[in-house]
Amino acid sequence: MSEQIVVVGGGLAGLSAAARLAHNGYRVTLLEKSPKLGGRAITIPMKGFNFNFGAHAIYARDISVLSKLEKEINLKVDWKNFSPSKAFYDLGSFTTPMPTTLEGIYKTKILDRSNKIRFGIEVMKTLVNIERGEEGVLIGDYLEKEPEQVRDMFLTLASSNFFTNEPEKIPSPLFFQYYKRFFGTMAMGSHRKRAVSYIGGGWQSIVEGFAKIIEQNGGTIIPKEKVTKVIMNGDQVTAIQGKETTYEADQFIFCIPPKECYNLFSETPYQHLFEEYSKYSPTVVVVYDIGLSERIRSPFTYVYQKGERVFITDISYYDPTCVPEGGQLLQAIAYLNDEEIANNKADEKVATIEAVYDKHYPGWRDRLVAKRVSKKAVVQEIKCINDQRLMPTKFYSLSNAYFAGDWCQGEGQLSELSFSSAYDVTSRIMQHPMEKEAE
Ligand SMILES: Cc1cc2nc3c(=O)[nH]c(=O)nc-3n(C[C@H](O)[C@H](O)[C@H](O)COP(=O)(O)OP(=O)(O)OC[C@H]3O[C@@H](n4cnc5c(N)ncnc54)[C@H](O)[C@@H]3O)c2cc1C
Repeated sequence: MSEQIVVVGGGLAGLSAAARLAHNGYRVTLLEKSPKLGGRAITIPMKGFNFNFGAHAIYARDISVLSKLEKEINLKVDWKNFSPSKAFYDLGSFTTPMPTTLEGIYKTKILDRSNKIRFGIEVMKTLVNIERGEEGVLIGDYLEKEPEQVRDMFLTLASSNFFTNEPEKIPSPLFFQYYKRFFGTMAMGSHRKRAVSYIGGGWQSIVEGFAKIIEQNGGTIIPKEKVTKVIMNGDQVTAIQGKETTYEADQFIFCIPPKECYNLFSETPYQHLFEEYSKYSPTVVVVYDIGLSERIRSPFTYVYQKGERVFITDISYYDPTCVPEGGQLLQAIAYLNDEEIANNKADEKVATIEAVYDKHYPGWRDRLVAKRVSKKAVVQEIKCINDQRLMPTKFYSLSNAYFAGDWCQGEGQLSELSFSSAYDVTSRIMQHPMEKEAE
């Protein structure tokens, strides 16, 4: 008999972990507290538009775990490549191409000639691991040695990749680790790789894809099942408690945020393991989606308003399935820091976003059919700044429990952390089939 695995949480981490294990012959049960799967990766239909929570952009596509899963478990992903030539920074008085490719670096007005060379050298040094940052030093301080333009360029890039308006607080080793990977996907010689891609059909398409793989391989998905506690024997989890049912298994993967783990393990001697991670602050943004009856012509599909730290993506340019015929779906995101959240600045951000829409998409108010505003959307459960650390995927003292999600250690940021932590724990489970027999 193959091992029985229970996965708690049906977000991208839980779904990808369950799908990979089911595909590899494990008996998998996935429990999700909501009626719908997907967690934060949801698609909400409204008046013919499909609003996705998030722009469903996958960074470093060709080396992403989602690409790996596509091949490995036959997940269908309709990749829609980001157009770097249509991505701009708005610096207030002028716009300039976003330097996400070597061509973009060459064309951008953010850097003058000598700083372009300097920036190019820094990119190369990051790629070959000469630039690695320093433990205990934040990137803002680490980059003090650089000319102002180069420092600003790096921090602006980090704002958009880490969804933050305080990029200077990112630990420098994490910063260079991230960009080594990211720069590796920029167009280089004959190895043309893609840095950013969207997913056609939105999050819904891959959520459904994972669910199909789980069910086709004999796995079970149980929605509306909130797990309330774990039952343990020594250092082993033997079962978890749902609303009315107890689920036993050989191994357990908890793809639920640290606060939830802290509650689940409250009656065990292991609760303290989750305490630190449950107190860290998340990356929070204001999201403002608008569905328009007709397209507004624009040279941009992505524009980052640097002063206000707001970006707009023309989602429907990449994914026409999210609009009714002839329509347009734009998504604006404004970053929030802890202080702004504490001082209820979200309403001001909404007004700022509307002004940015006015500037780049004049006439949007007359064509508005549907809109969706979320003033406190959690992009990443643990924000990678200062001393906040991501949670391990495995604790030494819990022998058959694993953890995955965008709050766990892994590659990249955002959903890549969900996928890569899930990939890591499923690899560990597959590499140690003897654990059960060794009991
Ligand atoms: C506005 C916005 C924009 C974004 N844009 C991007 C982007 O462009 N690119 C990108 O890569 N990422 C993006 N993200 C991030 C991405 O959405 C998340 O990283 C990812 O969806 C997190 O998935 P997860 O499975 O790790 O966590 P979650 O989605 O939080 O999943 C946890 C699941 O566990 C369930 N659960 C919790 N407690 C229990 C319990 N006790 N019992 C049972 N079930 C439970 C929850 O209901 C949930 O379904 C964005 C996010 C937002 C909000």
